Amino acid sequence: MSIIVFGSINIDLVATAPRLPVAGETLLGENFLKVPGGKGANQAVALAKLGVPTQMVGRVGAHSFGAELVQNLQDAGVETGNIFTDETVSSGVAIITVAHNGDNQIIVIPGANGQVDEEDVERLSRILAGAKALLLQLEIPINAVVAAAQAAKNANIKVILDPAPAPANLPAELYPLIDIITPNEVEAGQLVGFPVDGEAAAVKAAGVLLQRGVKSAIVKLGARGVVCATEKEVFFVPAFTVEAVDTVAAGDAFNGGLAAGLYTGLSLHQAVVWGAAAGALAATKLGAQTSLPDRFTFDAFLKERCR
Ligand code: ADP
Repeated sequence: MSIIVFGSINIDLVATAPRLPVAGETLLGENFLKVPGGKGANQAVALAKLGVPTQMVGRVGAHSFGAELVQNLQDAGVETGNIFTDETVSSGVAIITVAHNGDNQIIVIPGANGQVDEEDVERLSRILAGAKALLLQLEIPINAVVAAAQAAKNANIKVILDPAPAPANLPAELYPLIDIITPNEVEAGQLVGFPVDGEAAAVKAAGVLLQRGVKSAIVKLGARGVVCATEKEVFFVPAFTVEAVDTVAAGDAFNGGLAAGLYTGLSLHQAVVWGAAAGALAATKLGAQTSLPDRFTFDAFLKERCR
């Protein structure tokens, strides 16, 4: 049994410079970094690093970073046999400039991620029978997300949707196909149409999402914790207190930890604690995939904090 992640695979090209260039300007920068990302790939790596058998389904571009992105997933322990290499487009790329004062400029080219379609859903469907859960996000076309959720529902496989990046709205038919939806405050606000800032609003938003048909709604409140609501119960899980240095990929770590907990057979409440632990650990380290905890670190943290 494995967990399948169907979603985006990106490369981030990061340049640092004293300031951001103005239009038409060429500026001397300082450092260049090339880091693998994409919410789909991040969540797959989060799971694999926690020791869960994980398969990634998605697309990379043949001529720009494709082989390297697949290799990176393999190195993390992710099964990549169902990643399609597209000859016609680039891989998903984010071109990022970061200035000394922290300002940034980002251009995202969806590339191969934007080409994900029913053929990929077909490949996904062929391996669903052996899966424990399907993880989805919103960095591939929404039609493919809906079709994948439908295929999982038909195969009786649990669907966990991270509605990120924040969508303007989601097709109404998607909600009843979702077992667990995991927005942060901004994403929850976008989905429900009122601001979500803090626990009370998160409980209200979770209620709206349940009404639309999801089985469980988990609203991530950053350093404060998470609100979780199902038909039967509503509970709050506080965040672990850590020295946060960079919360990039904390949300992806959370979803990896949550799914790993469910994979292990934990209750929803305990699995949410696992998500919070993975998110907190990711916040203590710089970077995206590099900040995701391995199993050893994760177990040691839980042992120390959950006595
Ligand atoms: P996203 O990255 O999607 O915006 P959050 O920032 O809410 O999501 O982070 C996801 C989860 O990671 C949080 O719900 C929390 O459990 C954990 N987390 C994030 N930031 C911190 C932090 N500074 N301290 C402790 N836990 C954190």
